[in-house]
Amino acid sequence: MEERMARNFLSLISHKFKTPLAAINGYAQLLSENTRDNLPEMVRKASASIYGQGTKLAALIETLLDFVGVDNLSAGELKMTETPVEELLREVEEEIKDKTPEVTLKVAVLDKFSVNVDKTLVKKALKQLAANGMKFNKSQEKLLIFSAQLKDGNKMISVGDNGIGIPGEEIPRIFNKFYQVEAAFTGQVEGWGLGLPLVKKIVELHKGRIFAKSQLEKGSAFTIVL
Ligand code: ADP
Repeated sequence: MEERMARNFLSLISHKFKTPLAAINGYAQLLSENTRDNLPEMVRKASASIYGQGTKLAALIETLLDFVGVDNLSAGELKMTETPVEELLREVEEEIKDKTPEVTLKVAVLDKFSVNVDKTLVKKALKQLAANGMKFNKSQEKLLIFSAQLKDGNKMISVGDNGIGIPGEEIPRIFNKFYQVEAAFTGQVEGWGLGLPLVKKIVELHKGRIFAKSQLEKGSAFTIVL
């Protein structure tokens, strides 16, 4: 019961923030881009900063709403379809490649198999893992690998990166809601600490599990077992 109230509260707060923030961002953008009225430099700078920070805040609110939406789902509400894993991975690659021209994307289907999944949700989970793999990555040449493999009859889908890695003792905690690895280590990356809990929830709705392996300064791999 308390859990449900907390979720409703989060959802209410995010919705209440959206409308005023849209007005603030809209006017801040207009002001910062106004070249006709000879506005003082101070006004232009201040409004550009308000617009920049406001846009980040709007993105955080979207993430929060997205999380609450998925967290409220039950397994019965999933739209399951039998999907070849290759199709799943290729579609994710297709959907992120235009937004990330600086990242090398690879798809490695080591075994061909199909999965019975809610495609939209599983793609959301894979895209979230990919976003993390790019966000926590300081390599000159960022690399993301989506792979599929059968192991002991288990269907495994992994997302690997060549990012900063995760300290071993942190791995058990990173799937907890609102948990972020020490800012000093990651360099104050923005977010809520809700990305991995979102992925975990999607995996659990599919009665699967997820684990992470990582090596500092080498990279990380998150594997979903279905
Ligand atoms: P957020 O991205 O909002 O910080 P997440 O729940 O997605 O929250 O991740 C929790 C923490 O786990 C992150 O703050 C980061 O420290 C760590 N993490 C997640 N994915 C990766 C990754 N691919 N490489 C390195 N660290 C990661």
